Amino acid sequence: MSKILTEVLGANAQYVANFGAKGKLPLPPARQFAILTCMDARLDPAKYAGLAEGDAHVIRNAGGRASDDAIRSLVISYKLLGTREWFVIHHTDCGMELFTNEVMSNLLTSSLKTASIDASGWHDSGEGPGCTEGKYINWLTIKNQEESVTEDVLRIRNHPLVPKDIPIYGYIYDVKSGRLIEVTAASKAGKAG
Ligand SMILES: [Zn+2]
Repeated sequence: MSKILTEVLGANAQYVANFGAKGKLPLPPARQFAILTCMDARLDPAKYAGLAEGDAHVIRNAGGRASDDAIRSLVISYKLLGTREWFVIHHTDCGMELFTNEVMSNLLTSSLKTASIDASGWHDSGEGPGCTEGKYINWLTIKNQEESVTEDVLRIRNHPLVPKDIPIYGYIYDVKSGRLIEVTAASKAGKAG
């Protein structure tokens, strides 16, 4: 068994031993809110936003972007499970700032092996085969965090399946301090109507 698999199953056994009354939690999130945030390993929404099991929905992807699939989850979150307030939380030092669609599709075309980065940019081992499918994906990369948060809040706000009375708050999580910093343009755009 892989080391990681052993560790994860060991940790889970500990979790089960202390599971307590959590088996009785209802399905809808008790505190009726949802967070869309990045998958970055340094971010732990349960800790930075004070969540316990059963409290809130957390939707994560690379960048915390308002992709079609993130919106699918948010719509389910309010329509079927009753959330009433949403957060879009991107963060400083996000990996999505380190490449473009063109860089990603070129790397994938050259090789499917993990690439490396240094001061002169991304490099591939060049070990084939690569694949050109990456050219057809919008990787939703980020140039500027404040702009990406605002753009995503706006996209969600203007989506025809999203009701106007759900406030959408835009924040940047600072990986150096753990602090959530409001993006005022985003929160303004996300105001409930
Ligand atoms: Zn990130």
